[in-house]
Amino acid sequence: MDVFIHIFSICIAFPNLSCWRRITLKVLLFDIDGTLILSGGAGLRAINEAFLRLFDVPNAFANVRLAGRTDTSIIKDALLAHHFDVDVQAIEEFKKLYYHLLEREIETPLNGKKLMPGVSDLLGVLAEKKDVFLGLLTGNWEKSGHIKLSHFKIDHYFQFGAFADDSEIRNELLPFAIKRFSEKFGHVPDAPDVVVIGDTPADIQCARPHGATAVAVAAAHYTVEQLREYQPDHLFQDLSHLQDVLKVLT
Ligand SMILES: [Mg+2]
Repeated sequence: MDVFIHIFSICIAFPNLSCWRRITLKVLLFDIDGTLILSGGAGLRAINEAFLRLFDVPNAFANVRLAGRTDTSIIKDALLAHHFDVDVQAIEEFKKLYYHLLEREIETPLNGKKLMPGVSDLLGVLAEKKDVFLGLLTGNWEKSGHIKLSHFKIDHYFQFGAFADDSEIRNELLPFAIKRFSEKFGHVPDAPDVVVIGDTPADIQCARPHGATAVAVAAAHYTVEQLREYQPDHLFQDLSHLQDVLKVLT
């Protein structure tokens, strides 16, 4: 990786070198839930339990929409729905307890808990490509996102990302991921070479304001037909057709 970045720096310093035109970096930003993994309800059980312990309200998220949203906006909605003050301290306390409960819940054998189809093979192949960089763009808080990925032993693939800690508004997350990528690898990618991969309309929409490429995967909460309405640049039923997916992502 370092060698590749070094070569890239030389190309920037000497723009007439032939290697300049051959190199295109791809920055792939993956959503977590419904795209890389399904937690089998571990996340929902943990937030419900945390809310019950802290605010004495059972099943507090029953009427709160979850898919595609940031955890911060979800907890704020629940606090408002149950007539509690929304303040930073309440959210920080909630996060601490939620992480603790999630670590327990994610280890519980649950129906539906799984790596999504094709993810294991895809990440293995992408990790070998020197011009592809894997990051996260997720509505999870950073710590809970890593708890989920660690359970499935795919955490190590992702060296940077943007999380609900950065902003409660998903459409604002992408620049945080790019800033961290640039600080780590010393390069600002062209907007279309940043690819957001996710399973909800919110994943498609959060790529748009930044000119990034949106790849939708209809493997969890939304169907192909539903996601097509939001006009992603590419749309897959799932990530299991490795060569087709690689053609788009690389
Ligand atoms: Mg998702």
